[in-house]
Amino acid sequence: MTSRRQETLLIDPGGRARIWCRDCGQELTDEVSRSRRLGPECDPEPRTGHDRHDVDQDPIPGL
Ligand SMILES: [Zn+2]
Repeated sequence: MTSRRQETLLIDPGGRARIWCRDCGQELTDEVSRSRRLGPECDPEPRTGHDRHDVDQDPIPGL
């Protein structure tokens, strides 16, 4: 049995810069947190990043 280290887990597949919460220092992985540089626990603003599919536009009736 070979005991290999899982080094691939340390590599970000996208090669993106790693960003940490400027408050608690936790690494941020989601885009909202990364853009704000604040983790979900430290972000004072509520998250409204849910996938909403309700559109305000009324569908145009095609006669
Ligand atoms: Zn934080």
